[in-house]
Amino acid sequence: MDDVINYNNLSFTKYIEHRKIISKIKDLSNKINKMYQNEGLHIIGLLDGCLPTLNELIKHILIDFDVHMLKVSSYKGMKRGKINFIKDARLDFDIKYKNILLVDDIIDSGKTIKEMKKYISQKYLDVNLKVLSLLVKTTSKNLCEWYCFEIPNKYVIGYGMDINNLFRELDDIYILKE
Ligand code: IMP
Ligand code: MG
Repeated sequence: MDDVINYNNLSFTKYIEHRKIISKIKDLSNKINKMYQNEGLHIIGLLDGCLPTLNELIKHILIDFDVHMLKVSSYKGMKRGKINFIKDARLDFDIKYKNILLVDDIIDSGKTIKEMKKYISQKYLDVNLKVLSLLVKTTSKNLCEWYCFEIPNKYVIGYGMDINNLFRELDDIYILKE
């Protein structure tokens, strides 16, 4: 894949290589295995961006777990709007384990993750809820327990992250050149 992606009049440059992403996610899976040893885990993915991260994460998880999905949307292009649940994506599972791990692609303003944490902890009382995100922006890194990379306040695409639903399939992460 090229080191530069052009879209409309925007230009993105390669920023984090696939092999580095994979290695970081594997490290986090190992930490999760240790943290929840002898306990089970409900994993909740935030669609659509979480998919590559979640897929890689669960390859290395050795404890009992199951996976559920929540779909929300807030971005149009590179602008954030109101957070909406997408039809039929509300959670409806019975709690089997006391641990829940919410997985997302990127925490930017933190609005989405805060709302989802609130929603989950109101629905499932007395659970141990933690958050894992592939990327965090510096101002929002205290909103999750685990992340792979901290990035500057710039728009990124690839490895699940999109602009207008494009570029999620890229193996590497690209950052907006200004
Ligand atoms: P937040 O509510 O501002 O934290 O943004 C939450 C969601 O917006 C993330 O889970 C992403 O799906 C999307 N998002 C935020 N920043 C970016 C970005 O730089 N690239 C692609 N998607 C983003
Ligand atoms: Mg997301």
